[in-house]
Amino acid sequence: MKPHILDEFPQSLNQWCQSNSLPAYRAQQIGRWLLQRRAIDFQSMSDLPKNLRSELENEFQIWSTSIVRHLQAEDGTEKLLLQLHDGGRIECVLLRDGIRRTICISSQVGCAMGCVFCASGLDGVDRNLSRGEIIEQMLRLQQLLPTDERLSHIVVMGMGEPLANLDRLLPALDLASDPQGLGISGRRITISTVGLPEAIDRLANESRHFHLAVSLHAANDTLRNRLVPVNKNIGIQKILAAADRYFESSGRRLTFEYVLLADVNDSTDDAARLAQILAGRTVLLNVIPYNPVAGLPYQTPSAKAIRDFKKVLEDAGINLQFRQRKGDKINAACGQLRRSEVTVHSISPT
Ligand code: SAH
Repeated sequence: MKPHILDEFPQSLNQWCQSNSLPAYRAQQIGRWLLQRRAIDFQSMSDLPKNLRSELENEFQIWSTSIVRHLQAEDGTEKLLLQLHDGGRIECVLLRDGIRRTICISSQVGCAMGCVFCASGLDGVDRNLSRGEIIEQMLRLQQLLPTDERLSHIVVMGMGEPLANLDRLLPALDLASDPQGLGISGRRITISTVGLPEAIDRLANESRHFHLAVSLHAANDTLRNRLVPVNKNIGIQKILAAADRYFESSGRRLTFEYVLLADVNDSTDDAARLAQILAGRTVLLNVIPYNPVAGLPYQTPSAKAIRDFKKVLEDAGINLQFRQRKGDKINAACGQLRRSEVTVHSISPT
């Protein structure tokens, strides 16, 4: 297999240009085509000599994934199911919200964290995504936009646990935030984690200042151990302490995520405990009504339960956001589309 041009970008391309006695600006030109001018192949890089385009084609691959499904919802959300070179499948999503063009990308094939309500981890983890595969998702989604629109935000909230794949994720996000890359400022890039303290510390020390979101889902360890099994070896206190250190070193307000599951974690007592542990911290609490997954026993809470839960937190002065669900009809919650594909075995490329 030819090397993926994005895996070691720009070093491998620079080296190749050098060893072929090409002027340095060629590598930059090619980089611009790939990342900013949305080239779909080397042949369309129209200001490169034709023989150079063919040589590049023989040397590198740009796309190691293929689009298995492309779904569009009425609210402007688009979702891609991508097949990797080894047959694994991942999902990524484009969300349109006002002038925002946010993409949600995956970091692993499957997930090892085992959150009981999530579709991504039902079959465990297969492998980490490579840097090239992570960047490819960004480029494929960017290509869905008209040329006068740009990607504005990235959330790493697709399949997988991003902090379990930092070695590939960080270099991919570095290219996303590089002005010569996708030019999306680190402040507009959010990494969502189940809460792995050592990896949060590593992120804090590497000082890239991405935005961090921690998926909490419960305000006491007994309940969290049930919902997020990996919590048994960690515990909420250690996660909060690591999150505090991240806040101190980055200065970025943290987000906590809380998926509301009917009759599981949505009582007013749950809300009060949650308010208690978040009080005094500079945080945004993102409450997300559960997006039902076929085959799982959980349900979205009633409108009244949601209202009551929200009121307790508001009264306690917690900075709160209730996330709107987008793209429900296209199984936009992470891992859902891949699963439905596995169940029905239908493949219809678009
Ligand atoms: N592993 C990371 C990132 C991927 S999950 C994490 O745990 O944060 C991204 C977010 O989607 C998490 O907050 C996760 O709990 C939430 N999520 C997973 N399945 C969901 C569902 N069916 N409905 C609503 N949110 C869900």
